[in-house]
Amino acid sequence: MTKTTDPVDAARLALLLGELRLPAIKAGWKYVADRADKEGWPAARFLATLAEHEVAERAKRRIERHLSEARLPPGKTLESFDFNAVPMISKAQVMALAAGDGWLDKGANLLVFGPPGAGKSHIAAALGLALVENGYRVLFTRTTDLVQKLQIARRELALEAALAKLDKYHLLILDDITYVTKDQAETSVLFELISTRYERRSILITANQAFGEWGKIFPDQAMTLAAIDRLVHHATIFEMNVESYRRKTALSNKRGRGRPPKHATAKSAA
Ligand code: ADP
Ligand code: MG
Repeated sequence: MTKTTDPVDAARLALLLGELRLPAIKAGWKYVADRADKEGWPAARFLATLAEHEVAERAKRRIERHLSEARLPPGKTLESFDFNAVPMISKAQVMALAAGDGWLDKGANLLVFGPPGAGKSHIAAALGLALVENGYRVLFTRTTDLVQKLQIARRELALEAALAKLDKYHLLILDDITYVTKDQAETSVLFELISTRYERRSILITANQAFGEWGKIFPDQAMTLAAIDRLVHHATIFEMNVESYRRKTALSNKRGRGRPPKHATAKSAA
């Protein structure tokens, strides 16, 4: 018969572990203690097992928190991204970027260009997800939504604080930068954001239009050039000049339906 824990000790422990903010140990110590008693573990092993459990749970909770704050569109992963559809993009390079080191620590940028449906948002979100899983903090936002928030902050004389708050994100994903409207461009909050993060914190931008068409994103030509200059200084550029994946899959589904079943292959049925 193994020793049972004194109920007074157990109640005291629950209080102490709560006070110390060790919820995983608080929830799991009884199970580990029973095992340690039964198997005659040395005290050090018992303590180390509990500490490891708390550390692992903490890391899990942190990633869950970072995932929910990242606001990534659901279901866009690197696993579900068909790299064959964009032969100009190297999968190995994307995988290296997904590891995060070598660019996020330097505040380098990633600029993703391509027509609608090319897969820009998908690859941006998928990279964001991989980076969160690797311990980084990311925020995915439509550029116009963020500009709108920053404009409100500016009106309330709190732009600097709002920009500083975004510093906690190693990567800011600005989806569809060229959708910024004329009136949004006039306040130049986007330029402030780019300048503030320059060489410190990374930005990932997706854009339907090449730099030549960026005139309406910023208040004037000089600021457009200055913004582009800062963005490209330390940047990887993906040019996804492919036909719309949406259109392509819609077309191949249609073709697939029109074909007699004996010609259908496992691949086209997928
Ligand atoms: P963009 O942002 O360039 O307009 P999206 O990333 O929104 O395009 O892609 C359009 C749709 O096609 C999305 O549902 C996306 O998941 C899918 N898609 C695009 N490219 C690929 C790809 N290479 N592999 C798998 N799905 C893709
Ligand atoms: Mg998109």
